[in-house]
Amino acid sequence: MGFIKFIMITDKTYNKKVLSGMSFQELEKFIVENNEPAFRAKQLQYWLCRKHANDFQSMSNLSKDFKKKLEDIAVISDIKINQKLVSKDGTVKYLLEYPDGNVVETVLMSFEKRPNLTACVSTQVGCAIGCAFCATGKRGFIRNLEAREIVEQIMTIQRDMNISVTNLVYMGQGEPLLNYDETVKSINIFNTDFEIGMRRITVSTCGIVPKIYKLADINRQLILALSLHAPDDELRKKLIPIGEKYPLEEVIKAVKFYAEKTGRRVTIEYILIDGVNDSPEQAEKVNKLLKGIKYNVNLIPYNPVGDSEFKKPSPERVNRFLRVLEKINKKVTVRLERGTDIAAACGQLSGEFL
Ligand code: SAH
Ligand code: SF4
Repeated sequence: MGFIKFIMITDKTYNKKVLSGMSFQELEKFIVENNEPAFRAKQLQYWLCRKHANDFQSMSNLSKDFKKKLEDIAVISDIKINQKLVSKDGTVKYLLEYPDGNVVETVLMSFEKRPNLTACVSTQVGCAIGCAFCATGKRGFIRNLEAREIVEQIMTIQRDMNISVTNLVYMGQGEPLLNYDETVKSINIFNTDFEIGMRRITVSTCGIVPKIYKLADINRQLILALSLHAPDDELRKKLIPIGEKYPLEEVIKAVKFYAEKTGRRVTIEYILIDGVNDSPEQAEKVNKLLKGIKYNVNLIPYNPVGDSEFKKPSPERVNRFLRVLEKINKKVTVRLERGTDIAAACGQLSGEFL
């Protein structure tokens, strides 16, 4: 006996335009197409991007008629906050649900004594790369997100908390450079419509070589972060399967090109996994590999995910690795662990709450 599945369209957003995540040009086009003067787009943008308005009625300088019309033809957002978890350290992890039922995480971090509010955005549902240490990778690839959907993540948390994000890291679910066009479009929207400076936006990649060259052309201020994680191809390929396609020599050449073209330091991310890639000899090799490049290193002690056999190294091992790197370059930091109690830390974003 089979089931007949009824799909009821009860969603009030059906047929209405979703305004969150639109670029200003798209908003203007929508306004003009609906026979309203173009200046209304600026007013709307102000309420949506700056004031984090939750409904049209609260947009106090809009006419009554216009507000009514907006209610008939548009909705502010179609993302649902499926769950929200607050860590002991103040990190907030959102599980956000798109209308097609897919979920991604977006994480908000604040750092004591710093006024910055940093959000970590997702660019894909799942990820096709399948890195050995990453919870997202274990989930496989589901779909790319549109620029609008990436921007909507930030707008949703800004509305929920009534705050303005100051810094963005593209380090949530997915490989941003495998969703290149939509990632770049979203960066431009954040930069122009939300006035988040390019220097405050970091894109992290596992090393998609042709796209690193392309990215070097878009803006001199954008920060590139490379997930290095191993000093030689043999190990790197085991940890990051796409290392097979893009060997280290090519990846490093591309990163060097990026640093020279933009005049900015690149960030080198290096996960430390106990007994796998954290020996002093491996640190020496990293130093050799990065010779001649302007860089900062961000060491990330491995965060345990699922039933993986990998382990976090002891603080002594982390320090030993750090000291070898510092012989050549003092700009080495160990990433602060954020939200580990709510599985919001790097690599723990698997699209489900544990
Ligand atoms: N796909 C991109 C961006 C998302 S991953 C990339 O790989 O760079 C963001 C960062 O989290 C990367 O440096 C990634 O290697 C790191 N990461 C993934 N799993 C982790 C884990 N279990 N512990 C610590 N860091 C992890
Ligand atoms: Fe994908 Fe980055 Fe996770 Fe690797 S570390 S599986 S590239 S999200």
